[in-house]
Amino acid sequence: MALEEKREKRPPVTPMMIEEEAALRNGSRGLPPGSWAEAAGPRPRTTERHIAVHKRLVLGFAVSILALLAVTMIAVLLSVRFEGCSAAADGPPRASGNGSLPGAARQTPGAGQLPGRPEQEEEEEKEARGGEVAEEKEEEEWQRRRELPPWTRPRLPRHLRPLHYNLMLNAFMENFTFSGEVNVQLEVLNASRYIVLHAHRMHIEAVRVAEDKLAGGVRVDRSFFYPQTQVFVVVLNRSLEVQRSYNLKIIYNALIENELLGFFRSSYVLHGERRFLAVTQFSPTHARKAFPCFDEPIYKATFKISIRHQATYLSLSNMPVETSVFEEDGWVTDHFSQTPLMSTYYLAWAVCNFTYRETVTKSGVVVRLYARPDAIRRGSGDYALNITRRLIEFYEDYFKVPYSLPKLDLLAVPKHPYAAMENWGLSVFVEQRILLDPSVSSISYLLDVTMVIVHELCHQWFGDLVTPVWWEDVWLKEGFAHYFEFVGTDYLYPGWNMEKQRFLTDVLHEVMLLDGLASSHPVSQEVKQATDIDRVFDWIAYKKGAALIRMLANFMGHSVFQMGLQDYLTIHKYGNAARNDLWNTLSKALKRVGKSVNIQEVMDQWTLQMGYPVIAILGNETTDNVIVISQERFVYDGDAKPKDPALGDNSYLWQIPLTIAVGNTSHISSEAIIWVSNKSEHHRIPALEESTWLLGNINQTGYFRVNYDIRNWRLLIHQLTRNHEVISVSNRAGLIDDAFNLARAGYLPQNIPLEIIRYFSEEKDFLPWHAASQALYPLDKLLDRAENYNIFNEYILRQVASMYLKLGWPTNNLNKSLVQASYQHEELRREVIMLACSFGNKHCHQQAATLISDWISSNRNRIPLNVRDIVYCTGVSLMDEDVWEFIWMKFHSTTAVSEKKILLEALTCSDDRNLLNRLLNLSLNSEVVLDQDAIDVIIHVARNPHGRDLAWKFFREKWKILNARYGEALFMNSKLISGVTEFLNTEEELRELKNFIKSYEGGAAVSFSRAVETVEANVRWKRLYKEELFQWLRKSLTH
Ligand SMILES: [Zn+2]
Repeated sequence: MALEEKREKRPPVTPMMIEEEAALRNGSRGLPPGSWAEAAGPRPRTTERHIAVHKRLVLGFAVSILALLAVTMIAVLLSVRFEGCSAAADGPPRASGNGSLPGAARQTPGAGQLPGRPEQEEEEEKEARGGEVAEEKEEEEWQRRRELPPWTRPRLPRHLRPLHYNLMLNAFMENFTFSGEVNVQLEVLNASRYIVLHAHRMHIEAVRVAEDKLAGGVRVDRSFFYPQTQVFVVVLNRSLEVQRSYNLKIIYNALIENELLGFFRSSYVLHGERRFLAVTQFSPTHARKAFPCFDEPIYKATFKISIRHQATYLSLSNMPVETSVFEEDGWVTDHFSQTPLMSTYYLAWAVCNFTYRETVTKSGVVVRLYARPDAIRRGSGDYALNITRRLIEFYEDYFKVPYSLPKLDLLAVPKHPYAAMENWGLSVFVEQRILLDPSVSSISYLLDVTMVIVHELCHQWFGDLVTPVWWEDVWLKEGFAHYFEFVGTDYLYPGWNMEKQRFLTDVLHEVMLLDGLASSHPVSQEVKQATDIDRVFDWIAYKKGAALIRMLANFMGHSVFQMGLQDYLTIHKYGNAARNDLWNTLSKALKRVGKSVNIQEVMDQWTLQMGYPVIAILGNETTDNVIVISQERFVYDGDAKPKDPALGDNSYLWQIPLTIAVGNTSHISSEAIIWVSNKSEHHRIPALEESTWLLGNINQTGYFRVNYDIRNWRLLIHQLTRNHEVISVSNRAGLIDDAFNLARAGYLPQNIPLEIIRYFSEEKDFLPWHAASQALYPLDKLLDRAENYNIFNEYILRQVASMYLKLGWPTNNLNKSLVQASYQHEELRREVIMLACSFGNKHCHQQAATLISDWISSNRNRIPLNVRDIVYCTGVSLMDEDVWEFIWMKFHSTTAVSEKKILLEALTCSDDRNLLNRLLNLSLNSEVVLDQDAIDVIIHVARNPHGRDLAWKFFREKWKILNARYGEALFMNSKLISGVTEFLNTEEELRELKNFIKSYEGGAAVSFSRAVETVEANVRWKRLYKEELFQWLRKSLTH
C-alpha cells in the first residue's frame, strides 16, 4: 500500500462521503423509502449536510429506544425468552429491531436473487439464528471454565484453517447493494463446536455446514455476530473432527459502501453524465466487510470468484476471466480462474465501465491499464503501462522469481483511501498517482507517479507472493516496497541516482525528524487488537523500514543482499514469513561469501528499539591517532519524557556499522567500517594529522547522525569552501542535515550549519540544496514571526543569490518530453528559485509577477511547468486580490488534477487574512474543495506566517467536523494534526494546544502527544538558542 507522500505535490485521498453520492442514497435512486435511514445508520461518519439527516436518525433512534424499553419490560414481565433475532447486520451496537439491511436485493425487479434456496436451508436459517440470551449463557459457560470465549479474543482461534473459498457475488449497481454466497472448505486442526470467522456490516441469510461437501450436514445450533471483534460465530451441535474437511456455506447481502473501505462505490462524470463504479479496498482488515472470511494474513487459501453484474459493466478480479455466462435479461456472470494461495487483504474485484490499453511483457504477462474512457482515449495511462511492463521485467530479473499470475491489471479510480493498493494481479491506484498528461505534468509529478507504480509492483513479490505473518511486521513489506521505489526508479532512469541520493532527503532525513521525538515508537510494533492494525501503517514503518533495509544492503554488500532476497522469496513463496525468517536467510547468504554477522542480533536492536543513535567522534588530545567514539540516543528535546518509559530507555545501545574516512584539502581516503557497540570506544585511526578531517557515515548509508568536535567541524567547513567536491554529494547533503538537526536539538552551536552553507555559491548539485532547503524551511517557521527575522532572511538570500543568477529561469518546455529533460538540472533550478522567491529575492518576485500578468492579459499560460507552483504562490502573495480571484477561477475551470492541486495551494499564499479566512471556510464545502484536499488547504494556511493563527483557530473550532470526517482514517488525521501544529512555537500556543487536548477526549491521542512534544521542542529551542543565532547572524552580516 502506498501512503500519501509528504512531498506534498498530490492530494491525499480520504475515506470520505461525497455529498452528491449521499444525496443519491437518500434520493430516488436507491433503497425503498423508509429503509435508507437504516442503511445509513451504522455509518460512522457524517458531513455537515448530514446533520439534518442525523436529526431524523436521532429521532428515529429515540423512538426505537422507547419501543425497545417497552418490549423489554413486557418481556421481563412475561419472562419470555427471546430467541432467534440476532443474526442480523452487525456494526456499532444499537437498538435491536433496526439491524437488518433493507433487503434491497430482493426488492429489485430483475436484480436476480440468488438461485432459489431449498427448503432445508430455510429451515436451517431459522435454526441458525442465535439469541442474545443463548450467547450470554455461552459466555458464562466459558467463564466457568476460566477461559475467554474464542470469539472475544483479538485473534481468530487456531483450530480451523480455510483451504479454499468459492465466492459468488451479485453486484446491484442501481441500488448499491450486493449479495453473496461463500463456500469455504475448512480443515480442522483441533476438534471444536465453534466456527469463528470475520464478518462485518452484512446481513447473513443462511449458514450451513457440511462434511466433505456431502449432503447431510452438521447441524447448526445457532449463529451470531460478535461486533467487538468483527466476527461471526457458528455454533454446531457436535464437534468438527480433526483432520476432516468441511464445507461452510454462508449466504449474505450488504451495501456497496459509500466510504472507501471494503466493497465501495465511486463515481465520475463522462459527457455530462454521472457514471458509477464499485471496487474493493481490503487491506488491512476490510475483506470482512465484503464476505465472511478468515481475515488475517496467515490464513492463505485459494479463491475462485464469480461476479454477476449487468452486461453494461465489466468485472475484474485478481485472476483473468475464465468464462462469461450471459443471461437474456441483460445480466452476465464472469467466472474468474482460481488464484494461487493468498491472503484475504490483497484479494480484489471491481465492477465498472472503464476501457483499457494493453501490453505484454517478454515473459508473456498481459498488463492492462483500466481507466475512465476519456483518460484512456487521451493516452493518460500510457506512461504507467509502459513502465509497468519494464518494471515486471526488472523485478523478475532482480528477484529471479517470475511474476506469479498470468496478468496484471492496473485500475485508475477517482477516489481511493490510499495512493494505491497492491492487490495481486489487480492493483488499484487513485487517478492522480497513475494518470499522467505529459503536457501539464511537472517532473516531480512524473516522479510521484513512477515511484507509486514501482512500489506497488514490488509488493507483487514482497507482500503478495511472500506475506508477513502478522501486522507487527508490516514494515517489512512496506519498508521493502519503499526502498525499491528508489532502486526501481534507478532502473528506469539510470542517471537520476535515486537510491544513492534522493533517498536521503525524501526518506532518511524526513523520518529522522519523526523518529527523533521521545514519543516515537519502534518500527516493529506490537499489535494486540484490531484498532492497532491501522496504526502500524505510518511513516516510521515505511521510511524507517526502508532506511534500515538500505543500511543492511550496504553493510552486507548489494550483491549478497540481492542473493539473500532471491533465496528468501524462493523459500517462502505462496507462504508467510516473519522478520526472523528474513534475517536467517540473509545471514546464510553472508556465510556463503565467508562473512559471519548475526543479522538478527544486529537488526533486532534497530527494529525493536525506537529512535536512533547520534555518534560523537572526538579527537583524543593526549594520544595521537586515537579517536573516541561514543553513542547515545538522539532526541530533539532532551527534557521530553517518553510516553512509555519501557520503550524510551535512554540506556539504549545499537550495533552501529560506522563507515569512516579521513581527508585533507585534496584527497579523501577509502572508507573503513568500524562496528560500534559500546557506549564509548577508543579506535586507532592511521594517518590522522593536524590538518586532516574525519568523516563518518560515508554517503549516509547508516540510520544515525554523526557529530564531531568543533575543530573537525571547522576543518570540514574549510574543505567545503575550498574544494567541496572532495566530499561526495551524498555526504555534503548528510553533513548539512546532520548539522542543522544537531543544532536544533542543542548538540551543536547554532552558527555551524549556517556556516556550512556558505559554500553554496559553488554548489551545483541538487541534493545538498534540497537537504538545506528542507532544513531551512522549518527553521524559517520558527523565526518568521520574530522581530529580527529580516537578518535571517538576509543571510539566506546572500547564500542563494549567486547560484540564482547563474542558473536563471527555465524556458517554457511544453514541447519537450519530461523524461528527456535533465532531472538534476531542472530540480536544482527549481529548488534555487523556490528559495529565492520564498526568502524575497527581488528579481525572483518580479519574474513571478511578470509571468502571472502575462497569463492574465493573454489568457495563455506560458509559465514553465516545473516552476508553476512557485510562480502562482509568489504571485498570490505579492499581487492584489484580483490575482487571487483569477487563480480561484482557474482552480474551478481546470480539469487536470495536478494543475488543480497547485492552484488551490497557491490560494493559501495570500497575505490577506480575509482571503485566508474565506478559503478556510470554503475548504469544508465538499462541492468546492474535494474532501481529500481540505486538509492540505488548512496545513498550507498554517505554514503561511500571516495565516498560522487563523488555521490554528479554525482547526480548534472545526475539530468536531474535521474529526468526524477524517477520524477513522488515522493517517489523514495525524497528518492534519501535525500539519497545523508543527510550527506553533510560543508559550501561549503551547498552552492553547494543551488546553485544547484536555477539553477534547477521544482518539488521535498519539498524534496529539507528538504534537505537544514538537511544540515544546520549538518553544525550548527559541528560549535557549534563538538569541544565540541572531547574535551570530548580526555579527556575520556586518563583517
Ligand atoms: Zn505499500
